[in-house]
Amino acid sequence: MEIQNYINGKFVKPISNDWIDNYCPADGEIYGQIPNSSTADVENAYKAAETAFNDWSQTSIEERSRILIKISELLEANLDRFAEAESKDNGKPIGLAKTIDIPRAASNFRFFGNAITQFSSESHESVGQDAVNFTLRQPIGVVGCISPWNLPLYLFTWKIAPAIAAGNCVVAKPSEITPLTAFLLGEICTEAGLPNGVLNIVHGFGKTTGHAIIEHPNIKAISFTGGTSTGAQIAKIAAPMFKKLSLELGGKNPNIIFADCDYDDMLRTTVRSSFANQGQICLCGSRIFIEKSIYNKFKSDFVEKVKQLKIGHPSNPDTDIGALVSIPHLEKVKSYINFENDEGGTILCGGKQITINGYENGYYFEPTIFEVTNNECRLNQEEIFGPIVTIMPFDDEDNALQMANDIKYGLSATVWTNNLKRTMRMSSKLQAGIVWINTWMLRDLRTPFGGVKASGVGREGGFEALRFFTETKNVCIKY
Ligand code: NAD
Repeated sequence: MEIQNYINGKFVKPISNDWIDNYCPADGEIYGQIPNSSTADVENAYKAAETAFNDWSQTSIEERSRILIKISELLEANLDRFAEAESKDNGKPIGLAKTIDIPRAASNFRFFGNAITQFSSESHESVGQDAVNFTLRQPIGVVGCISPWNLPLYLFTWKIAPAIAAGNCVVAKPSEITPLTAFLLGEICTEAGLPNGVLNIVHGFGKTTGHAIIEHPNIKAISFTGGTSTGAQIAKIAAPMFKKLSLELGGKNPNIIFADCDYDDMLRTTVRSSFANQGQICLCGSRIFIEKSIYNKFKSDFVEKVKQLKIGHPSNPDTDIGALVSIPHLEKVKSYINFENDEGGTILCGGKQITINGYENGYYFEPTIFEVTNNECRLNQEEIFGPIVTIMPFDDEDNALQMANDIKYGLSATVWTNNLKRTMRMSSKLQAGIVWINTWMLRDLRTPFGGVKASGVGREGGFEALRFFTETKNVCIKY
């Protein structure tokens, strides 16, 4: 299968005719090629976007909204096709792609199609000075959107939808590891009547294609989701050019369980928050801290439940745990099994790469629970982004809080308790952009989304995203 760039509403090959192999994680086979796009391809995408900007930024809110909602409807109508593509490209269970990834991509377009009709700005009457101020929120121009491989279409559209709703034109790059659904999105956008050049999708490596987007002098804002070290490299280039930057980066999220929680709900949800999408969700709770009085019970119940998870081919509807996304990622996950021997952790279950009959070259790894005694160990401090979690007891609230915050990341945190005062104290003191109490990954698209510390800068979601993708201008009129 040949994946092509989508520039000015047309599918085109890379100018260099240089291609990158695309692998299927479930069986390790190469099943397609994607463009290895160069600076020249990015320039063509930029020119198409720049040309489209005049008309698109002047297109009525109603018309923009109508087109976004049409894209959403077409994604829903093509749910199975998109879900199968996502599962094949990423290795995620088909059930997850059908119920989470693709429905959410459709929701992203519907949500921002509606949100833009409610987006307003302020007016300030300067009483006593015979003046009034009003604020314009104008589209920025051509913006860059770069997304990772773990929730491919879900995160790609989470950026593109608000960017185009606000009247910008986009040069976007999906991960080179999971390009397929972004490629299919081009067709849908054309069918929905999105004018040529409003969305341009270029494929290729981060260090070349992605880099060309970041350093393009006229791409004035960058919305990036990916690893923390990549975010730092991007900031180094973009900051001296005074680009607007939104960085959604890595996480190593605490899941703090108090004895007074609703135990069964907590246990069920903790299995999911640990291993959904093979643990490859930036919001997964990979450090589990449990109050001492229920530690032993939790330990045996959690291990028993995790052992029941079915590892299998992603296309099998019964599969709970599919394949990891790539060989380099599998190798990274495996490396944590080896070095933890030196740091005093104990594997309670999992810990091995496995083969599935008929798919011997697939990238499968067992869901793994480590018991650790020291929050400073690398297993507790480094983002693994795979099916490995640690468990560790805590003495009291202060101890839990101290360990939860003692890390460079600050994306999300989950707390399980029925104590209202503790809920309020923990919510206030946890160093994270998102705190879930008695739930996990319950999302309302109006809410601000993003991290603190090394987990990022800026917020996506709701009006925060529309504010990011617009430039604010105040006008003062003296009368
Ligand atoms: P990555 O940083 O390697 O790549 C992300 C994207 O950036 C890809 O499209 C890649 O091609 C591109 N890229 C890489 N180097 C670049 C460069 N120098 N210039 C421009 N673009 C470049 O991350 P990944 O491995 O694809 O994704 C996993 C990471 O993403 C994890 O750290 C995870 O926590 C993070 N993540 C964060 C969130 C969030 O909302 N905070 C959500 C999902 C994933």
